[in-house]
Amino acid sequence: MDDAVVARLRADFPILTRTVHGRPLVYLDHAASSQRPTAVLDAVHEHYVTRHANVHRGAHQLSAESTDAYEEARATVARFLGAPSPRSLVFVRNATEGLNLLARSWGDAHLGPGDEIVVTVAEHHANLVPWQQAAQRTGAVIRAVPLGPDQRLDLDAYRALLSPRTKVVAVAHMSNVLGVVHPVAEIAEAAHAVGARVFVDGAQAAPHLPVDVAALGVDAYAVSGHKMLGPTGIGALWVEEELLASMPPFLGGGEMIRTVEIERSTYADIPMRFEAGTPAVAEAVGLAAAVRYLEAVGMEAIWRHDRALADLALERFAELDGVRVFGPVGSDRGGIVPFVVEGVHPHDVATALDSEGVAVRAGHHCAQPLMRALGVQSTVRASTHLTTPTSEIETLVRAVRGARDFFAAFA
Ligand code: PMP
Repeated sequence: MDDAVVARLRADFPILTRTVHGRPLVYLDHAASSQRPTAVLDAVHEHYVTRHANVHRGAHQLSAESTDAYEEARATVARFLGAPSPRSLVFVRNATEGLNLLARSWGDAHLGPGDEIVVTVAEHHANLVPWQQAAQRTGAVIRAVPLGPDQRLDLDAYRALLSPRTKVVAVAHMSNVLGVVHPVAEIAEAAHAVGARVFVDGAQAAPHLPVDVAALGVDAYAVSGHKMLGPTGIGALWVEEELLASMPPFLGGGEMIRTVEIERSTYADIPMRFEAGTPAVAEAVGLAAAVRYLEAVGMEAIWRHDRALADLALERFAELDGVRVFGPVGSDRGGIVPFVVEGVHPHDVATALDSEGVAVRAGHHCAQPLMRALGVQSTVRASTHLTTPTSEIETLVRAVRGARDFFAAFA
């Protein structure tokens, strides 16, 4: 997308007009949380102003309208992910909750002593810790796919790990640190050949590239609304319909039951069985508006845009002595650029950038095993989205150069 298109999109995001420390905001922390266009804010506002009531319960007009809006949101998100049916899409709080649901509900029912859970060294803690907990409960064992020399997943090592003991492969579609898109379709095919399930953490991919769960051939896919221009407090978990229908509930309470006696209950059909309690109705409506916004811009266009920005950042950083960038170069690399300035703590770099109005993240990015594999404790991370103009990459690089020179004066 050229800068004129980006400028038009930016006009939809009121927050991007603000200043920080007297400088125009340069928001390069989209991988942590994106910003919201007016269309999303308006959809949430309109829901509360015109129709809000609890869903699925009340026999009154507002409840019926809220239920319709909630179910329409489910259908919209399901279509966006390529899900064959909205019945297989569960609303959750965020990707973390979706991944915990899988590890609890499916994991406890299907894992036993000696079974193997395959993860990758690049997983976000949200796709690792729930499986560690499942392993502790069931006696299953965790195996991790390492990185190859080019910092992509080592697929030969992955294939060598697979065996009839492998029951599940849990993998991110796109790394929140390296920006690389993992070859999930290939990973799924190999896993299915040994009878294992493939559960995908789509928190970073769904906001930035076209996703089609049916074409990927995976068994489950989790996303977070707040990273894809939607509200906080809402996410979605798609699970292949037959599999979801076979899974026991995760949380118990209202909305998820059919009949309740003092000592036992029977459960509702999918997807309600997995949505105990009052759901985040307005947030689901906001997420549907976010999805419509992304679709109107076009996921192919967004992906090309992020890739071009990543290429530009990698090219500019390569010209800067003392700056080390992580992750592979190639067409499978999106707009996430982790780096360190030699001899300067990433938090100091991020603070220096913040004083210039440039918002980036510094830390281990909830991926401590990956940090160890890269030989660092933490990195700075800049991440782009559809509202990022090329000028913001130039501002980033200028600010990093300034920080490098400033701290070098004290070395
Ligand atoms: N997986 C990945 C790859 C992520 O980047 C994140 C968010 N940093 C998560 C999972 C967790 O997302 P949330 O905190 O919204 O549950």
